[in-house]
Amino acid sequence: NLKLPRPTRRRILTVANQKGGVGKTTSTVNLAAGLAIAGLKVLVIDLDPQGNASTALAIEHRSGTPSVYEVLIGEISVAEAAQVSNQSPNLYCVPATIDLAGAEIELVSMVARESRLKEALSSEALAEIDPDYVFIDCPPSLGLLTVNAMVAAQEVLIPIQCEYYALEGLGQLLRNIELVQAHLNPTLNVSTILLTMYDGRTKLADQVTSEVRGHFGDTVLRTVIPRSVKVSEAPGFAQTVLTYDPGSRGAMSYLDAAREIAEFGARMGLA
Ligand code: ADP
Ligand code: MG
Repeated sequence: NLKLPRPTRRRILTVANQKGGVGKTTSTVNLAAGLAIAGLKVLVIDLDPQGNASTALAIEHRSGTPSVYEVLIGEISVAEAAQVSNQSPNLYCVPATIDLAGAEIELVSMVARESRLKEALSSEALAEIDPDYVFIDCPPSLGLLTVNAMVAAQEVLIPIQCEYYALEGLGQLLRNIELVQAHLNPTLNVSTILLTMYDGRTKLADQVTSEVRGHFGDTVLRTVIPRSVKVSEAPGFAQTVLTYDPGSRGAMSYLDAAREIAEFGARMGLA
């Protein structure tokens, strides 16, 4: 019943923040599920050796499963590695297995080491799945995997936790994005900042929120994701919060954020 505008060209978003535990994976899977449930075709690339996005989307990712690792080393295509999620027939995921842990080092000596994911996500490679959206869930580092994600994308989505030290490390992330823009991907832009784990009972959360809005203006989504037990429980049931508890505040806010992303795209001519 919920319908969102379909972008006229594919949007590839990298979900990045070198800080761990800020909500990259949670935001990736829930935004992806929100867009998919709204009728759009979405592909999630799990680029973190931890494989948390694969787990949350109930995607097989035991060692040896065809995964993003084999895609990066050029053995198989994205279409060959992608699996359909239990969350929606429109939602696909290329899993990460523990085999990806060595890739950061293996990539160093490879040809075109920064653009291997971009090659893997070419129009020809994506023709079969034909996703409207691709979300790349980055590991908590600024190494070659994250660089590959930034080279492959047009947009960066930065989740920021409404906590003390939220802005710490953000300068380094933005400088890395500038380096990628200067040398590898001039069309990359930080299109979206999402405030996560907001706890309305603390004054601090409001301080962080207004500081981030003051800094980044309209790039920050109006929707703020609340801290909610349902959101953190859902992966344990191999679900996103959208199917685990569709009426919860967490689910509603991720749906709102997905709508903002889709409508922003339509407004900006990205769509
Ligand atoms: P990252 O991918 O940046 O490391 P995660 O998405 O894995 O971060 O989130 C870190 C932890 O915080 C996880 O245990 C997750 O379940 C929890 N979490 C994320 N978002 C929320 C939220 N809105 N409310 C409660 N817990 C959350
Ligand atoms: Mg993660």
